[in-house]
Amino acid sequence: MASVLIALGGNVGDVRATFRKAIAHICGIAQGALIARSSDYATPPWGDEAQDPFINACVEIETDLDPHALLFVLQKVEQKFGRTRDKERRWGPRTIDLDMIAYDDISLQKPDLTLPHPRLFERAFVLVPLAEIAPDRVISGIPVRDGLASVSTQGIERLPDTG
Ligand code: ADP
Ligand code: MG
Repeated sequence: MASVLIALGGNVGDVRATFRKAIAHICGIAQGALIARSSDYATPPWGDEAQDPFINACVEIETDLDPHALLFVLQKVEQKFGRTRDKERRWGPRTIDLDMIAYDDISLQKPDLTLPHPRLFERAFVLVPLAEIAPDRVISGIPVRDGLASVSTQGIERLPDTG
């Protein structure tokens, strides 16, 4: 089984409910086990600031799917929960965005899939939830906790558990 870290984000609709359903779907379709799930965090919009705040979280799953098969599953789940890529602007509002952050220690640079995720260490909104579940994981030679220490986490707030 591979250990995979996945980042979730969204800012349209009941994002926390969408996350819960999406995680269940990912594990179901990928025949994966949910190993860890971070809290949800409210985060300032990034890239394109004229939009509502985002909610972000990270999960670790174990799966036997290969990286491309898992990417396909993530894109199916994005579609199921209402994401329409052709209608949205880059880094604009979306119901759910699912990014593969790391798949074991695999490095890949394909047109449709880069592993580890190339923008991880610029994104406090990923590093904060990731450090909650995998602070010691080394990605691209950098421990997640060190990556977190080198970004500003201003404006990021942990949301209380919904139970
Ligand atoms: P972003 O995640 O940067 O906001 P998108 O979700 O629209 O942007 O993703 C754009 C493309 O990124 C997808 O079509 C997908 O093929 C590609 N991609 C490359 N590497 C990854 C990865 N590690 N995880 C998810 N998508 C990836
Ligand atoms: Mg994405």
